[in-house]
Order: sequence, then structure tokens, then C-alpha cells
Amino acid sequence: MPAKNSIIFGLPRVFAVLIAVTLPTRSQYLLVPTSSGRLTYIYRGEVPESWASSDHARTAMRANKSRDTTPELAIRRFLHAAGLRYRVNARPIPQLRRTADVVFTRRRVAVFIDGCFWHGCPEHHRLPTANSEYWMAKVQRNSARDKDTDAKLRDAGWVVLRYWAHEDPQIVADEIRQTVLAACQIRN
Ligand SMILES: [Zn+2]
Repeated sequence: MPAKNSIIFGLPRVFAVLIAVTLPTRSQYLLVPTSSGRLTYIYRGEVPESWASSDHARTAMRANKSRDTTPELAIRRFLHAAGLRYRVNARPIPQLRRTADVVFTRRRVAVFIDGCFWHGCPEHHRLPTANSEYWMAKVQRNSARDKDTDAKLRDAGWVVLRYWAHEDPQIVADEIRQTVLAACQIRN
């Protein structure tokens, strides 16, 4: 009898990771275990690789970065359907080494869709228990860089729009469309 229990509870952590990763409970989220054994939700495509404890788990996590389900792609689909044309993952200013997610070059509108984990969304960001100082520093660096990017682009006459990945893609796309159209009226 005790042997049976120990088999169940003695499952190597890699299996727990694989089970959690291959059975996402909600379409936009993955349920992943922290190294302390707790579970946490994170957005697809935002899986810190150090959470995966083996090559197999890392492969499974990478496979879950399904591009078709990212909020960013949903937003781009709405924009395209609205007749807007834009560049994707492009530098608004070629000399400035900063890449925006959606760029309207002629209207000078740059859009950033920030991942909740990497950019420290106040609603969804949870520091992993393991290496929390490392992750905190990383997220703080990202936020500082975001602010710096916004300032540099605005100084150069760009309109900067920044959204969280958790925001409703339809609402975000509508706001982007209105901003682009307004920018169009001012400049034409
Ligand atoms: Zn969020």
C-alpha cells in the first residue's frame, strides 16, 4: 500500500511539468508549476525557460508558443480586417534599436503589445518563487526600457500606443484604428 502512494507522489517533476503544459486549462493561459511545486497561470508564449527542468519540458513549452493564439495576432487580424496596413515587429526609427509590434510608418504610430509576464502587468505578473530576484530585476529592466522607448519615439514625433497582452483585442484594435485615422487627418 505505501508503495503505491510513493509511486504517485514520487513522480519526477518533469512529468508534472509536462502534464501541466500539455493540458492548458484555458486557451490563452498555460498552467505551469513553479519550482516550489505551486502552480501559476501565465500567458502562452511567455514561458520562462528556466521553469522547464529538462530538454523535454522545454520542447513542450516551446511547442505551446502557438502563434495563432497570441493576443497580438488577434489584434493584427482586426486591424487588417479594418483595412489598415502596417509593418510587424519593425523598428519605427531605423537608427533606433527598438522594435515595435505594429508600426504605421507614414502615420508615425507605433504599437506595443506587452506580455504580462515580461513587462510586469500589475494584474497578472507573479514572480516565480525560484530566482525571484533575477526575474524581478529582469522585469524592472524591461519596464525601464519600455519607458525609455516611449520617450525616444515621442520626442521624434511618434504616437506611441502600449497595451497589455490581456486586453480585449477588439477594443485594442478599435483604439489603434481611431488613433491611426486621427494621425492621418493631422498630417494629410
Ligand atoms: Zn495582464
